[in-house]
Amino acid sequence: MLAAYAVHLEQSRGRRFPEPAHPYRNDFQRDRDRVIHARAFRRLEAKTQVFTRRYSDHFRNRLTHTLEVSQISRTIAGALRLNVDLAEALALVHDIGHPPFGHAGEKALDTAMRAHGLCFDHNLHALRIVEDFEQRYAAFRGLNLTFEVREGIIKHSHDYASEQHPELAEYLLDQRPPLEAQLIDLADEIAYNAADLDDGYEAHLLSLEEIRERVPIFEKFFLEVEGIYPDAPAKLKFNESLKRVLNYFVDDLIRNTRQRIAGGNIGTLDDVRRCLERLAAFSPAAERERKRNKDFLYETLYFSPSLADEKDAAERVVGELFAFWMDHPESLPHNYQDKAKAESLSRVVCDYIAGMTDHFILEQYENHFGER
Ligand code: MG
Repeated sequence: MLAAYAVHLEQSRGRRFPEPAHPYRNDFQRDRDRVIHARAFRRLEAKTQVFTRRYSDHFRNRLTHTLEVSQISRTIAGALRLNVDLAEALALVHDIGHPPFGHAGEKALDTAMRAHGLCFDHNLHALRIVEDFEQRYAAFRGLNLTFEVREGIIKHSHDYASEQHPELAEYLLDQRPPLEAQLIDLADEIAYNAADLDDGYEAHLLSLEEIRERVPIFEKFFLEVEGIYPDAPAKLKFNESLKRVLNYFVDDLIRNTRQRIAGGNIGTLDDVRRCLERLAAFSPAAERERKRNKDFLYETLYFSPSLADEKDAAERVVGELFAFWMDHPESLPHNYQDKAKAESLSRVVCDYIAGMTDHFILEQYENHFGER
């Protein structure tokens, strides 16, 4: 039973190109499946989340991170009686616009674009992927996703000002997105805060002592776990504690969002949209814990000297290849050369690079510059 404030299929603004209904799947389920079948989705497997393959094959990449966000989002959406199919589609598509090399790649691409008076934004790029770059269907370009999925791609993590983005006018920029989209950003945060502690610990970049000391919510659950399993190996105590941390944030988000919905007298989807602020939120106490966890990861992991060389190399590869194709557009694949007739060359080079996997861009670098 969907809540009245959920997105109901019957209220969907539909697709750009109307299509007949499917006998077995509703429109949001179809959108979810179209994302799964997209080439850009498969490429997430070979894109860095935080750790490159150098560390281990069982650390998260963008694809497995995406699956974790999807799992967490389904749980939250179900508990809040939201549209689980829509939330799942949005979770699966949420990182599809990410370039190679994680945050370092994104930063380098944005820097390169700013030199041309433009910028790189992964949400806007994701919209271009699903609207234009994916070519699977004879009747239209792109995936022809429903309005609600396209709107969620744009608005799940960020509010865009309508004056600066007239091209996004159809996405109701003066309104909040539905709760299904609002929860994605927080599920993302829950997923990577837990995963990065996990992978950072496994990579021996973070020690158990340090995590216990600096992340109070982890320490709280670690003491609890030690009481229940005093003789368990340290790694299993770590896992049990981390699982409890993850559940704590999910549970807090569900309860607090429920309270905000009740407190704000939110009855319908229109109420959600017209509300001045986002309703999906952690409680102030959990928000403090989240921030501590995140600050700890920034200090000890994301900016750690162990990852610095790799990040510098990533920025160099992206920056130099960008400059190379700006100087030698004739070296771009033919379909990108064609695109450059209609759009600025910098945008076309940016699109080309953003779509690449880590190893494809390294291969390109070697082709044009020799060994790194
Ligand atoms: Mg993400």
